[in-house]
Amino acid sequence: MSLIVQKFGGSSVADAERVMNVASIVTDTYAKGNDVVVVVSAQGDTTDDLIDKANEINPKASKREKDMLLAAGEQISISLLAMAIEKLGYHAVSLLGWQAGFETSSAHTSARIKRVDASRIKREIDKKNIVIVAGFQGLSKYGDITTLGRGGSDTSAVAIAAAMHADLCQIFTDVEGVYTADPRKVKNAMKLSEISYDEMLELATLGAQVLNNRSVEMAKKYNIELEVLSSLKKASGTIVKEKSKMEKMLISSVAKDTDVARISVTGIPNVPGLAFKLFTKLSAKDINVDIILQSIGHDGKKDITFTIAKDRVDEAVECLKAYVETIGANEVLYDDTVAKVSIVGAGMESHAGVAAKMFEALYDAQINIQMISTSEIKVSVLIDAADADKAVSAIHAKFFD
Ligand code: ADP
Ligand code: ASP
Ligand code: MG
Repeated sequence: MSLIVQKFGGSSVADAERVMNVASIVTDTYAKGNDVVVVVSAQGDTTDDLIDKANEINPKASKREKDMLLAAGEQISISLLAMAIEKLGYHAVSLLGWQAGFETSSAHTSARIKRVDASRIKREIDKKNIVIVAGFQGLSKYGDITTLGRGGSDTSAVAIAAAMHADLCQIFTDVEGVYTADPRKVKNAMKLSEISYDEMLELATLGAQVLNNRSVEMAKKYNIELEVLSSLKKASGTIVKEKSKMEKMLISSVAKDTDVARISVTGIPNVPGLAFKLFTKLSAKDINVDIILQSIGHDGKKDITFTIAKDRVDEAVECLKAYVETIGANEVLYDDTVAKVSIVGAGMESHAGVAAKMFEALYDAQINIQMISTSEIKVSVLIDAADADKAVSAIHAKFFD
């Protein structure tokens, strides 16, 4: 007998028929003699709809209240799934994050899981229940409901698998696994049979939505193998693990992130310490900076350009404008019609010319590169958002056709 954690995303539970489909996958697993803990997300676009509802009333609502609202989405799907399982003649119990023992930080809307006290889940399993847990949510030390950030149900599933030493953690979604590019955007994207934690972590961070990056980080930390597979079609999926034979491939996938904006601060006096002070202003506001480019100074002045998440632009520009005046720099410019396109692959560590090949694909497609950043296993370029899909296809074709 094994303990299996199965997570189902929003599209897998989008309507009554899909909920019944999930119930049959779960009960099949249980009927084979396994203990099963299920994590579910809110149905379909529920979380987006809840965000719209909040914005209709008060776009500046406190994050605590946003969490209170957003957590409601998962409460609907866990109870519906429990009812579907009951209908098939099995015993199920649905639990909200706090009931399932999810203790988190108090950073509302992007809380981190501190601990999962799995004693309640264990008691329910001992009673022969199929346990269904609301993903994406927990409780802060102040007794408030928190959420883990968009896509956080993946992390909830991995956290349970880690806390309970599960034998298997399956992430069911609306595609058959992890592909060489988003299979909805690139026709001939290929399913990978395996991918390493490190590559998957880069991919998830660089915009491949299929797994949340924190879930991969946690899976790597606790050495939990993940299987990503379809809830709609019976087929083998992708295994995410420490070492993957796919590392022999030059690259494993192409990713796109349109949630970025570029900010430039121009005419900064060319003296020591100003970059430090500028980025300290941003970090004080908890704004993450990604690609950074500094121009060679001229006439005692230099420009610094960097990227941040699109939804932080207003805050960043406001705080930098005030700062720029105090140091006599020229101005703060921004552009939020940009996209980051990246290639990821452990193979590039030992092969020369991978970046050049990517740039050639962009040149062939006549796409201009604004910024470049690299690490051992990835190359990212910042380009015009309007060119993003064309760029992904051109790069994918160059490496995989
Ligand atoms: P869920 O609701 O199950 O959590 P998500 O929508 O969060 O599902 O993630 C699945 C989606 O990720 C797919 O529908 C696909 O469009 C997208 N995706 C992006 N890049 C990739 C990739 N490299 N491989 C597979 N899917 C990807
Ligand atoms: N329902 C949440 C979201 O839409 C969590 C998740 O789907 O993982 O982001
Ligand atoms: Mg998801």
